Amino acid sequence: MHRIIAVILCLILLAIPIQAEDQTKYVALTFDDGPSGRFTRRLLDGLAERDVKATFLICGYRIKEYPAEARRIADEGHEIGIHGYSHKSMCPMTQDEVEAEILDTAALLPAGVEPVFLRPPGGQCGDGMWDAARMQGLAVLTWSLDSKDWAIHNANALVERVVSRVQDGDVILMHDMYDSTVTAALTIIDILSARGYRFVTAAELAQLRGVQLQPGAVYCSFP
Ligand SMILES: [Zn+2]
Repeated sequence: MHRIIAVILCLILLAIPIQAEDQTKYVALTFDDGPSGRFTRRLLDGLAERDVKATFLICGYRIKEYPAEARRIADEGHEIGIHGYSHKSMCPMTQDEVEAEILDTAALLPAGVEPVFLRPPGGQCGDGMWDAARMQGLAVLTWSLDSKDWAIHNANALVERVVSRVQDGDVILMHDMYDSTVTAALTIIDILSARGYRFVTAAELAQLRGVQLQPGAVYCSFP
């Protein structure tokens, strides 16, 4: 009798679906304005050591200066998005002018790279930018957490700023243009990884959260 009860109990337990909810917190590190020389190289070294993928929003005129670094970003599995050719504000530009910024940059991207994001320099604005993004099939990526690394050139202060504010699904804005940023980014990865965060590209973060990216739509985070 006990054996029958045990078997029935076992069958009931097996029938209860296991609610294995994913407790992992995900964030995307994004780096604007590059590629640059030694900063980008040191960042890529640190990301590779940690097996972390990031998103690089790069400029056409910078790819011309640092083609090997652009190639390395792509070869090492990071995501590449377009940050304009000239890094001029797109706010006053016509649609044609913004499309030229996009296409001139796309022409210089390493073979095989198909960008899904446009990040307009300085942020979103201008009818020309919206129309151009839509026409070129690019989603507009802004951010939810600004590290302010363009103003704060102190790695410890940057780490404190990001680690104290970060939330699941954040898109974190940084620039691979300063030593302090590279040191901070790698420290942020180490601290947040220990707290259960995982670092993915912006496109991966969208996919993880079931977001179907739409050309011309703006995304600042994926909570
Ligand atoms: Zn920029």
